[in-house]
Amino acid sequence: MKIVYGRTIVTMDQQRRVLDDAAVVVDEGRIVDVGPRSRIDVEHSDVAERIGGPSFAVIPGLVDAHGHAGHSLLKTLGADRPDVWMDVVTPFYFARTTEEYWYLDGLLSAMDRLGNGVTTSVSVMGSRPRADQTVFSAAHARGYAEVGVADVIGIGPSGNPLPHPTAVPDGDGWQSRTSSLADMIDVTEAVIRELDGTRDGLTRVFVTPFTIVPSLYPSGPSTPHRAVRLTDADRAHGAAVLDLARRTGTRIHSDAFGGHVRLALQDPDTAILGPHVHLQHGVGLDAEEITMLAATGTHFSHAPGGLVDVPSLMAQGVVVAATTDGSAPQRPFDLLLAARAVRDAHVVRERDPYLLPPGKLLEMITVDAARVLGMDDEIGSIEVGKRADLALIDVESPHLTPWWMPVHRIVGQASGRDVHTVLVGGEVLLEAGVPTRVDAPAVVAEAQRVAVGHVVAAGLQSHLTEPGWGQVRRVFA
Ligand SMILES: [Zn+2]
Repeated sequence: MKIVYGRTIVTMDQQRRVLDDAAVVVDEGRIVDVGPRSRIDVEHSDVAERIGGPSFAVIPGLVDAHGHAGHSLLKTLGADRPDVWMDVVTPFYFARTTEEYWYLDGLLSAMDRLGNGVTTSVSVMGSRPRADQTVFSAAHARGYAEVGVADVIGIGPSGNPLPHPTAVPDGDGWQSRTSSLADMIDVTEAVIRELDGTRDGLTRVFVTPFTIVPSLYPSGPSTPHRAVRLTDADRAHGAAVLDLARRTGTRIHSDAFGGHVRLALQDPDTAILGPHVHLQHGVGLDAEEITMLAATGTHFSHAPGGLVDVPSLMAQGVVVAATTDGSAPQRPFDLLLAARAVRDAHVVRERDPYLLPPGKLLEMITVDAARVLGMDDEIGSIEVGKRADLALIDVESPHLTPWWMPVHRIVGQASGRDVHTVLVGGEVLLEAGVPTRVDAPAVVAEAQRVAVGHVVAAGLQSHLTEPGWGQVRRVFA
């Protein structure tokens, strides 16, 4: 057993209680008591291990419902050319990555997220999901397992073209292959069978097709004349994804943009929508599609960088999580910063400073994010019975003083760098900003070596560009 003390505990429970001078009691990885320090100290006087104290705010471990595997070793590469970024990274992920790459990226990403107070994360395998091999998902999962962060692996069909070209390491070279829709469904199922529910449920797998309608442009909204008719291939794709999720009892995650939802619902039987689905991005969704999301009970997640009408989604009853979409080309795994950026974008666009107050923003990265993942009975708040996933923020710093209006202070002024201690399942995984299970400097050094090695071997150095000195708008010679 252990007791975690806080000057303030932001429980995010049903009543949204914020407790001063309080404590959380943890036993066997679960929260068994929450309350005033005076009572807890008397009732649990036998507990030897005590952490936290009057310089900390305790919040639920943050939940990042959308991010990527593979991105951490490519951060900022190609960042100045969003128009070609996908065309650079897709062939790299599919044809020039090794188990070592996915393992080191997993270690580094898990350390990064842990350091930002994230205790449960979603990691889509690559940008378009790579689902031609099980070993890369297993290598990624090993990295997260060693650090200790709970992780949902997102793997599923890559989208068009199908079959998709891939390559696997073969001696000193690469052996080219292709992967069909059926191949990717089989590999996704094998990854689910191998990894879903392992580590006492800390590793999960969600079936994650790249988008819900493969025939449409996958990275932005489709104008009405491009989103006219659902194809037979779209229907086959939707049917295969739904069938796999049903057979394996797994949830579904995917990207969707304007036009995707309307087109998918041309065939409700194969539409990847519903309460077991959370969709990311949503840029270009119009009022009718927002109504369709609400009517189907589909959950939604959103990251800074694209405009979508989050207040309208919420007003219609759609549960919305704020996410990092980290960490490439330049989307940090700092979920507090991401939530703030989502708020700021809406305030500027709507010219309405009353939108998305701090309480709602904190819900979007804790309880609401847990609901989006279908895990709200397990994580997202500090309540008796839930897994003891906690983040302790050091509040004795200039930018967090004076300490009042704690939720405002955390959401408005804190960042991931203020996270001092993190527990997952009651185990301290981060202490004084340092991961407890892995040798952080050694991981960083190894990640640097593997990243540079892969970029050089794949010939991507030209995408490590200078920063645009003196340019108001980026231009290239
Ligand atoms: Zn993404």
